[in-house]
Amino acid sequence: MAGNFYAVACPDCENEQIVFEKVASEVSCVVCGHTIAHPTGGTATIEGEITDAVEAR
Ligand SMILES: [Zn+2]
Repeated sequence: MAGNFYAVACPDCENEQIVFEKVASEVSCVVCGHTIAHPTGGTATIEGEITDAVEAR
């Protein structure tokens, strides 16, 4: 089953990075290290603002 990718703006530094919606491990902001996605076994809990969604093909 394919998943989507989100462009997430970090709540701390507003850096935007692409995050898979079903992450297997925590994803941290590459700039400040703030955790922006928590694995849940399904769709990740996203911290910060989702600015864009990219559908996987
Ligand atoms: Zn950040």
